[in-house]
Amino acid sequence: MKRALVVVDMIEDFVREGGALYCGPSMARILPVIQREIARSRGAGETVVYLKDDHLPDDAEFQMFPPHAIVGTKGAQIVPELAPAKNDVVIPKRRYSGFFGTDLDITLRERAVDTLRLVGDCTNICVLYTAADARNLGYAVEIVEQGVTSFDEEAHRDALRELEKTLGAKILR
Ligand code: ZN
Repeated sequence: MKRALVVVDMIEDFVREGGALYCGPSMARILPVIQREIARSRGAGETVVYLKDDHLPDDAEFQMFPPHAIVGTKGAQIVPELAPAKNDVVIPKRRYSGFFGTDLDITLRERAVDTLRLVGDCTNICVLYTAADARNLGYAVEIVEQGVTSFDEEAHRDALRELEKTLGAKILR
């Protein structure tokens, strides 16, 4: 088994109160969990991948959500508490799934990664759809339950069930 840690959308606009699409107070709870996972992962020599929303100013996603994470703005930056290190990989994305229209898959395959451990937000949106694509592509998926969250608690719980029961992800409790 060769694992990569995938940190999903821990950017200023979602993490900070007052950010364009603040995910809520649970962001403060998952932050230290993700810090620990990153330290563990780097210590184990795993690849650490950061996925980050990076939208065009008129991105189609803004028909559904308020504008956020616009390319080149502070809101689109990964929070400094989780700053990527030199050997980490940062992959910008414009859709929910980190695989859609990005080079995430070839980046993982080049490193012979077969297992993804996901942390970040939101459980029911970018985490769920990235996990779904990962499963379709044949990766094993692990979700750190205390390291994922959503602005919508009910949707968070539904997504965890979907991840486990339908996608076959392993929920690490
Ligand atoms: Zn977005």
